[in-house]
Amino acid sequence: MSVQQQVDSLIAQVLRRNPAEPEFHQAVREVLGSIGPVLAKRPELAEAKIIERLCEPERQVIFRVPWEDDRGEVHINRGFRVEFNSALGPYKGGLRFHPSVLLGTVKFLGFEQVFKNALTGLPIGGAKGGSDFDPKGRSDREVMRFCQSFMTELYRHVGEHTDVPAGDIGVGGRELGYLFGQYKRITNRYESGVLTGKGLAYGGARVRTEATGYGCAFFVEEMLCARGESFDSKRVVVSGSGNVSIYTIEKVHQLGGRVVACSDSSGYVVDEKGIDLDLLRQIKEVERGRIGDYVAARPDATLHSEGSVYDVPCDVAMPSATHNEIGRAEATTLVRNGCIAVGEGANMPTTPEGVEVFLQAGIAYGPGKAANSGGVSTSALEMQQNASRDSWSFEYSEQRLREIMTNVHERCRATAEEFGMPGNYVAGANIAGFTRVADAVLELGLI
Ligand code: NDP
Repeated sequence: MSVQQQVDSLIAQVLRRNPAEPEFHQAVREVLGSIGPVLAKRPELAEAKIIERLCEPERQVIFRVPWEDDRGEVHINRGFRVEFNSALGPYKGGLRFHPSVLLGTVKFLGFEQVFKNALTGLPIGGAKGGSDFDPKGRSDREVMRFCQSFMTELYRHVGEHTDVPAGDIGVGGRELGYLFGQYKRITNRYESGVLTGKGLAYGGARVRTEATGYGCAFFVEEMLCARGESFDSKRVVVSGSGNVSIYTIEKVHQLGGRVVACSDSSGYVVDEKGIDLDLLRQIKEVERGRIGDYVAARPDATLHSEGSVYDVPCDVAMPSATHNEIGRAEATTLVRNGCIAVGEGANMPTTPEGVEVFLQAGIAYGPGKAANSGGVSTSALEMQQNASRDSWSFEYSEQRLREIMTNVHERCRATAEEFGMPGNYVAGANIAGFTRVADAVLELGLI
């Protein structure tokens, strides 16, 4: 069987065994589509069924999460934790609370996480979890009751040496605080290393909150630099207005770029003077408001509820909201308007058709696996600080993040070049991540 036939047959097998999980299928196709050259060089990987092992999670936990709202009405949500691969270290990956969460969503995120974490060079395995709970519009007390119920089951499966969750969509500082409080209460252990992204008051690490956005900006800066460019005076569009978006905007402004648009699920705003970050943070982090509130306070800005944030002409696009937000049409618009670089803060925000447009156009395209790996990397630094009961300064932590992103960029660049695809960060990230985790799986024997 040729390598291509082997890959096609493996993909067909994943599709058959995991029906009705389109995002998981998409993520598997994306990684397997890149690793043919490695399989051709190293037949022992196929013989040991390494790919079959990487496509099958080590453990999948699904549980009921009952909770009561402020009116006393009972709600039942579904909780998930998919522990995908622990060959490189304890399972590591965020929790997502969003009404769209299904098992297939968590599996796609967990699968991606394995290769992302491997790419960082740090000792962390891959997992993801979450629930179809929607925190939007819920009071703090409702969110607390939900988090306590969620942790009442999850605590059995996590631990500083076992599985270390963090935040993701809908899970920020508030939720992580409630989750950690309940874990501590049930286990009677002050085990800081069980969660990352914690508040500074109870074992959190400096720069973790900022890390995904800052890291993505650093990664894009590296891609621009490799082409003799920089952020200086560039027009930048960022989708979303949550954790990743806010700190992407902050760092892009510090690096000399100007973010002119951002969004949420209700629409997007354009502010030609540059997004006012203090105002955005007040609306999103303090008031938990909608993006429309921005224009009420900033009359020169405009609100758009039709179309896409990618209609706004830009030099650099940084999708930082959710998966599959850039399809062929959005990608084509970006390229037509002169976009030269795309750095993915979100996980899998571009469809395969969109990726094809970027690669064909030859623009600098940094896939999420590489570009947003600063978040999980800084989580690993938080684990390191927790284990040594230490706490690093902001400056030192940011310097470590920057070094990590430079190394991730270099690993992708050099790997793509080695395999004859210079400038292709998709191939570079997939091959480098896959090779590291595959080698570890091979050495651990048949487990
Ligand atoms: P937040 O919950 O803080 O923010 C999410 C933002 O995206 C909000 O503005 C939200 O708008 C928007 N959004 C979410 N879902 C949708 C949707 N279905 N359609 C349109 N807009 C949507 O999440 P994060 O910033 O933490 O995460 C954003 C992305 O970054 C995700 O893809 C996540 O997996 C990825 N990521 C996050 C990391 C982290 O450290 N937090 C690490 C690596 C990747 P609204 O409020 O209207 O829903």
